[in-house]
Amino acid sequence: MQLTDDVKILKSVGQARLALLHNLGIYTIEDLLEYFPRDYLDRSIISSINELYDGQAATIRTFMAGQPQAFYKNGKDITKIAFNDGTGRIEITWFNQPYLRRNFKSDVEYFISGRVRRGSGAFTIETPEVEAVAKNAPRGTSGGENLSAGRIVPIYPLTAGVSQKVLRGLIKQVLDSARKEIAEFMPQNILSSYNLSSRDFAIRNIHFPECDTAYFKARRRLVFEELFLMQGAMASAKGHLAAAKGRIFDNIDASEILDTLPYDLTDDQKKVVSEISVDLQSGYAANRLIQGDVGSGKTAVAMIFCFLAIKNGVQAVLMAPTETLAIQHHQSFLETFGKFGINVELLVGSVKPKQKTAIKQRLKSGEIDIIIGTHALIQDNVEFANLGLVITDEQHRFGVRQRGKLNDKGEHPHILVMTATPIPRSLAMVLYGDMDISTIKQLPPGRQKIDTFCVTSAYHERIFKFIRDEVEKGHQAYIICPLIDESENEDFKDITSVLKFAEELKNGGLAGISLKLLHGRMKPEEKNEIMTSFAAGETKVLVSTTVIEVGINVPNATIILIENAERFGLSQLHQLRGRVGRSGKKSYCILITDSKNEVTKKRMDAMVGTNDGFEISELDLQLRGPGDFFGTMQHGIPQMRLANLYRDMQTLEETRDAISRFFITDTRKFHIEHRPLKEKIEKILGNIQKISL
Ligand code: ADP
Ligand code: MG
Repeated sequence: MQLTDDVKILKSVGQARLALLHNLGIYTIEDLLEYFPRDYLDRSIISSINELYDGQAATIRTFMAGQPQAFYKNGKDITKIAFNDGTGRIEITWFNQPYLRRNFKSDVEYFISGRVRRGSGAFTIETPEVEAVAKNAPRGTSGGENLSAGRIVPIYPLTAGVSQKVLRGLIKQVLDSARKEIAEFMPQNILSSYNLSSRDFAIRNIHFPECDTAYFKARRRLVFEELFLMQGAMASAKGHLAAAKGRIFDNIDASEILDTLPYDLTDDQKKVVSEISVDLQSGYAANRLIQGDVGSGKTAVAMIFCFLAIKNGVQAVLMAPTETLAIQHHQSFLETFGKFGINVELLVGSVKPKQKTAIKQRLKSGEIDIIIGTHALIQDNVEFANLGLVITDEQHRFGVRQRGKLNDKGEHPHILVMTATPIPRSLAMVLYGDMDISTIKQLPPGRQKIDTFCVTSAYHERIFKFIRDEVEKGHQAYIICPLIDESENEDFKDITSVLKFAEELKNGGLAGISLKLLHGRMKPEEKNEIMTSFAAGETKVLVSTTVIEVGINVPNATIILIENAERFGLSQLHQLRGRVGRSGKKSYCILITDSKNEVTKKRMDAMVGTNDGFEISELDLQLRGPGDFFGTMQHGIPQMRLANLYRDMQTLEETRDAISRFFITDTRKFHIEHRPLKEKIEKILGNIQKISL
């Protein structure tokens, strides 16, 4: 049997079962062996019947102690069989499985596993898992050939139609018939440096662990392997991509623009600026992620490099995920660049067709130096004369493909992507494996902690009073609601909506204060007008949906009230909170929820407890699990079989180390000499590229 053989060569795999296996993604013997259990039951300890206790999940090893009995009760067919293991008696019950009465034999010994109940005196187990004790099973704890008891038993992630028993049987069949060891592809020196078991040992023990220690060794090896291969693939991908020649920026003196900024850069901003400057002079196209917490001043970094692009004779583009944010960027760029005679234009969906055409023409002729916009920039008919720098803001809102389309509008332009959802560095390496990473941790000086409170809706009146006080001091407030208008849907009846809440506030709690509302169903012009009036300080209170979630910068806003906070994810709450505290003024975030849900409570506690975006995203990752977290963050992440990117962070670090030691690097290119490993990596590389291209 070969790893590449079709699973249909296995005994007991007919057409029907084959189709079911295909549903699980199992086509070859190797797929089957790499179909790892999601959990285990420890049935290695065999209990004596006289030692059982009520509620115990137990496995006993026993003979029958009497003939099966049949009963009929409440329309159910009940089978009862008594067993005796020499220390005591137990009664086992099954429902609606009359054929079982024929199956049990008095001269066969059985493993019986299930939840023990102590009824009126006697022990019972209902609908247990049963397996005849294999002939060669040793007397002790190990079940040897047994698959469902007398050992640690695997539980596979399954869909209807395939039972645990069937899958265990198939895998056992393969393991038993593998005469040779399962081939190793990891280089020997890595196995020994990192104390990893052989692949043969790992595969056998991940399915049928001999003991706890064997399981942990097996898992470690396979997690290491998985992370190593994935990162190896990404490193190779990066080698290919980054090898693209890029324009060298001769002039990286940004002092003119720095002089016009009303502040000095923070040390972290300076560090990032110098990292990018190195990229720009390297002769290769920059491909860098800038991650920095909300309010850390990423826009300034973007401005500096747009300025340098112009000085070096190329055009720059800045893409933002919402029109509101694009407009805001456009305005601040105009302010900064106006005096240098640099042409900055805006291209968003709501620009009038005639004007759009004119902008596109001027872009193509090279008259426009910097263009700022939304998805509108991606369209095919947007062409540049000489695009040399592409910046994507809040990149987690875009798909890989969208970014790619923009990048393709220039000839190997330098690429910067910015994100305010910071994640632990080792994870970033996986998610953005094809990019270099810069991090801004520090906030600009003078920022105060945003005081965060979580209260129930009973506190509304007091909070309205608080908002009135802030407005009286000349400050402004955001009020966020999860819905636009009242819904017919019963599920939403307790959820605050923008339209209704704004009405209530105008006539009650915030009467007399200039208040406007904003939501995604409004026309872009209308939205822009409202945002402009809020940014100018004319509107004091903005009642809004999450359309303001990313990027919006109105430093005079000092309070954000979030209704039905339980409806938002942790990272989303952090982003929303980041709309305040954007100046030296003391700011507040008030979360309102009446939910008693445990996870909600943890999220709220996290918000109240910390302002640190890195901590928040780690907690978010913990609470949601990596699948969910990455699902909403970025498309094109390879699915992990076994590794948990959060819990296996330690191993992730080790594999990074191993990669850099094992790959022969000529600064930007990676080479692997080891053939079996290379083949494995190339296979994965194929998959990644399929996803992301
Ligand atoms: P984000 O990283 O969330 O995109 P912004 O770039 O919008 O943050 O910056 C947030 C605010 O901080 C803006 O008002 C900006 O002018 C200000 N800012 C940026 N850098 C500094 C700095 N070094 N010192 C003081 N204020 C700064
Ligand atoms: Mg920003």
